[in-house]
Amino acid sequence: MQLLKKKILENGIVLGDDVLKVDSFLNHCIDTKLMYAIAQEFAERFKNSKITKILTIETSGIAPAVFTGYILDVPVIFAKKSKSITLDKSMFEANIYSYTKMQYYTINVSSKFINRNDTVLIIDDFLANGQAVLGLIDIINQAKAKLVGAGVVIEKGFQGGGRMLRKEGIRVESLAIIDSMSKGEIKFRNEEEEK
Ligand code: 5GP
Repeated sequence: MQLLKKKILENGIVLGDDVLKVDSFLNHCIDTKLMYAIAQEFAERFKNSKITKILTIETSGIAPAVFTGYILDVPVIFAKKSKSITLDKSMFEANIYSYTKMQYYTINVSSKFINRNDTVLIIDDFLANGQAVLGLIDIINQAKAKLVGAGVVIEKGFQGGGRMLRKEGIRVESLAIIDSMSKGEIKFRNEEEEK
């Protein structure tokens, strides 16, 4: 998605070789016009999938998920992050390993909001090692709902999560795939390779 790539090049800040800071337009200060364009792109790519719910993870996934949910006219559920595993039977829970924080955290979703009749699209801001998406898939499986795939705003292709998920047969649609960020220079995968 050219508009997004332009914004990343103009406003993204590379930290080290593998972290991209996009807080000026994506996950702290939100560029609403860009977010709407992102959502239109997701909605277009998944329009034939008969989606009934969108599932994301707090906090940064909420904005792209809500804009997309609005366009597709479906509810958006965000998994909450919590520190301890509760034994509440009405919650679906999954453990996610964060490579950036080097620790596990638990996410949970009330069983009131996803069930076996749902067809669910996952949306998230970043895809790195794929652990967040795997945690959300775990929740969808616990709910016995159907997974459509994952829509990701920025995939860091060099961290392997996208490769691993696609190998598992999961549909992953990323609007910008970064192949490298070494020495602060962002290199995108070209559009044809993305497909
Ligand atoms: P994964 O589970 O795929 O390794 O990481 C995905 C999660 O980590 C995303 O939900 C995102 O919040 C966070 N994340 C991973 N890499 C980056 C990055 O380069 N920049 C920012 N802002 N967040 C990231």
